Amino acid sequence: MYFSPTSCFAADSSLVDELIAKAEKVRSSDPNQLSTVLNELSTYEQSFNKHQLAKYLYLTAYKKSFIGEIDTAIEIAESISLSKEPTAFQARVHLFIANIAGIKEDWELSLKNLNQGVKLSELEGSADMLASSYIIAAITFNLMYQHDLAYAFAKKLLDLEVNERHYCVAQQSYIESSLYTNRIDVFSSEIDNAIKACESINEHLWAHVTRMYVAKALNRQQRFQEVVTYLKEHIEGIENTKYPRVIMGVYAELAEAYFQIGNYQQAKLYAKKATETPLSIKFTEPVVTAYKVLYEVAKIEEAPVSALSYFEKYHQADKAYLSSVNAKAIAYQLVQQQTQEKQITINLLNKENELLKVEQSLAQTEANNSQLVATLAFVIAGLLALLGYRSWRTQRRLKILAEYDYLTNTYNRGHFMTLAEETLFLAKTSNKPVGCIIFDLDKFKLVNDTYGHDAGDWALKATAKAIKECIRANDIFARLGGEEFLILLPSCDVYAAANIAEKCIDKLQQIDTQDSGYKFTITASFGVTSSDLSGYDVAKLTSDADIALYQSKNGGRNRFTIFE
Ligand code: GH3
Ligand code: MG
Ligand code: MG
Repeated sequence: MYFSPTSCFAADSSLVDELIAKAEKVRSSDPNQLSTVLNELSTYEQSFNKHQLAKYLYLTAYKKSFIGEIDTAIEIAESISLSKEPTAFQARVHLFIANIAGIKEDWELSLKNLNQGVKLSELEGSADMLASSYIIAAITFNLMYQHDLAYAFAKKLLDLEVNERHYCVAQQSYIESSLYTNRIDVFSSEIDNAIKACESINEHLWAHVTRMYVAKALNRQQRFQEVVTYLKEHIEGIENTKYPRVIMGVYAELAEAYFQIGNYQQAKLYAKKATETPLSIKFTEPVVTAYKVLYEVAKIEEAPVSALSYFEKYHQADKAYLSSVNAKAIAYQLVQQQTQEKQITINLLNKENELLKVEQSLAQTEANNSQLVATLAFVIAGLLALLGYRSWRTQRRLKILAEYDYLTNTYNRGHFMTLAEETLFLAKTSNKPVGCIIFDLDKFKLVNDTYGHDAGDWALKATAKAIKECIRANDIFARLGGEEFLILLPSCDVYAAANIAEKCIDKLQQIDTQDSGYKFTITASFGVTSSDLSGYDVAKLTSDADIALYQSKNGGRNRFTIFE
């Protein structure tokens, strides 16, 4: 017995369309209703055509994102087969992914989809869709510190005829990016207008976000008294928003301003409030500012023990925050590079095709050979251009990561010195020991010479990763250059430091180098000292550790020596 599938399910198709339309309507306004409709829809899943399936998946992903299941939402949205769908729908899905990937701080995924979403919206989307795509772009680029780009999108947005709410959000992004790029003055009438645009439609939150960026700009310009006057007037309203990101941001700006004008009690009060505000992402810029203020105040109040503890928290927050800044910068560079590279490859292939066509028409002539040579020459020139372009990109990326060693994701020498001096100063005043370990990889030139520079780089990365597993979050780990590293260990005497060196020696030997494509062993020679032996001067501490390191080298390598 056979059923004809079409006749069997024909009656359902329009019902499914109706349900989808219903779900669309309640999508953002009534999550419960959305769930009910989706449940009903799921009973017809077998009979969906591919457009219905795409819409159903999108709505399901949307619901998941609403209840905080971001990973599942992304997974579902990415599984939607878009190629045969209308452009406007494709744009919507890409923008949706861009948005939720941003929440998850997956910046690479976010940017890729943002690029697609904006392109598709510009191609065919409605005015509303275009506005949504520009808004998401402006907000995302501001979040990623790409303020020039955010500014460009906010500007485009303000040139469109948009509804009041979009206009308010556009104004906020416009002011934020303008302030960061010094395009407007802190008290220009444009800022008043932006705030009014939001307050007039009761979007107080967005108005306060703008105020927060005004306060930040004032602090940057060292107009600290003005920050206090300005924020005190609005603090109650800001607290009433119950929105942690803004509340915390404003507390941190107040703490900084009070500290700078010498009102340490208020500075401490607001810094503490900032660190106590619950937030899902733990290490943001305000947390860094707040701990820095707390530690500076403790230092002034001559409370070295709490100064040291705040400094360690500050250092930890700063490290996490810097690495999130780096992640954003890298994601941005990466996506830029990928899209442009794709364009270059496509151009190249197009040109190649043209040449091949010409080649065919000349098939029976002598020109055949020379044409082939021309094609090859062109392809080679293109590849060379691509390589040159790549190395230029790399240079630029390195510059961005000024405080970090890009290869091993540890501090570089310059930033290490700054951190070390603070740590040693505080440890000295609170009379606590600081351990110091320097190590240098053994026979590393041989690794490069035998397996190549890439394998050498791989080993450097693997080394840093292994060492990080042996040390604590607030230890300061830096690459001094080449294959030489340093670890500064607050509150560790020389014996504790030697223990850690021993742990590191074990850990390095256990590195499995298969992934590099070769099999070899990584070892290093260690020199250990501490402030009990060498004092609190960073130069003396490191040079003593260095002396011990060379004793380890002379003694046969793959060992540690304590400075005497
Ligand atoms: P020793 O045990 O005495 O330290 O021997 P060694 O071979 O490690 O010492 P040497 O200082 O002669 O060689 C260090 C090598 O490290 C030289 C250089 O090629 C390599 N090197 C330095 N920086 C990098 C890097 O960033 N990547 C790679 N792959 N190699 C590097
Ligand atoms: Mg070496
Ligand atoms: Mg060396």
